[in-house]
Amino acid sequence: MSQTYDKVALIGLGLIASSMYWAMKREGLAGEVRGYARSSETRDVAREIGLCDSVCDSAAEAVRDADLVVLCVPVGAMGAVAEEIAPHLKAGATVSDVGSVKKAVIEAVGPYLPDNVNFIPAHPLAGTEHSGPGSGFAELFDNRYTLLVPAQNTPQKAVQKLRELWEGIGAKVEEMDAEHHDLVLGVTSHAPHLIAYTMVGVADDLRRVTDSEVIKYSAAGFRDFTRIAASDPTMWRDVFLNNKEATLEILGRFTEELFALQRAIRTGDGDLLHAYFTRTRAIRRGIIEAGQDTDAPDFGRVKK
Ligand code: NAP
Repeated sequence: MSQTYDKVALIGLGLIASSMYWAMKREGLAGEVRGYARSSETRDVAREIGLCDSVCDSAAEAVRDADLVVLCVPVGAMGAVAEEIAPHLKAGATVSDVGSVKKAVIEAVGPYLPDNVNFIPAHPLAGTEHSGPGSGFAELFDNRYTLLVPAQNTPQKAVQKLRELWEGIGAKVEEMDAEHHDLVLGVTSHAPHLIAYTMVGVADDLRRVTDSEVIKYSAAGFRDFTRIAASDPTMWRDVFLNNKEATLEILGRFTEELFALQRAIRTGDGDLLHAYFTRTRAIRRGIIEAGQDTDAPDFGRVKK
């Protein structure tokens, strides 16, 4: 794979930025990568583990001369970071981000950026429940989708270059508009996270089942919820506050369906339950056939 950008700046050095760095290095896609994180603790860890070719003490220094700047901070911090870096951006540079919400990020970042840079928002649909500079790994994006959300007037050449970077680090790339992105992710990621947070919270509240029983007997269902519910609190607070509309719409639908299933259980409507679970099983099959998860029992945790 050949180099796509000469100088890249990663602002925020957590799971996504560190995975991007290791993957770019693996593929030789960037000449020089500079990183910046808000706290000196994170910058020190980054230097210790060799994350980025150099770690700068200010965002301004990191973005100077960069051909690509990627904002890898929580959604709620994107606007302030854009304001800070805007005066230091190189003319013709591409500014992108990896935020899990797109409409709110575009509204927060767009107004600060000068006309002579290309803003191409992006969202890699890949992650884990871990965070911080030590949590990244080069394979994170392999075979996962990254959605690009370019404005209509963005030069095709700039979009193509960013696409090549993401494809180079293993992702499948598609373009989508911001509003649709937020609705799709509301269904596939944001609402499920809220439901997982709620389920784990409920188990914690059920005093008839002790905490130690919940942990000791955690079966596949609950255990899988706990993994999702261990995700970074700051990131997820910001996701819900910034994708309000779509999340609330989907939770409304979710509540209606939950009531329907609750009623079926109360009235003994086994046919409804069976038909419902048959439909959901087909959705799971579709995900496996699309290569987006493993077919191994218990997500491959059971050794054959
Ligand atoms: P992370 O591991 O928690 O790292 C976040 C980084 O942002 C840290 O370096 C942190 O600096 C910095 N930061 C936090 N608050 C900040 C602020 N107010 N101002 C400036 N910098 C700040 O996060 P991540 O998982 O990589 O997520 C980064 C972005 O990717 C988020 O927008 C998230 O929505 C998106 N995303 C995440 C996932 C996922 O599964 N994790 C998947 C796709 C997209 P310090 O360490 O110095 O505090």
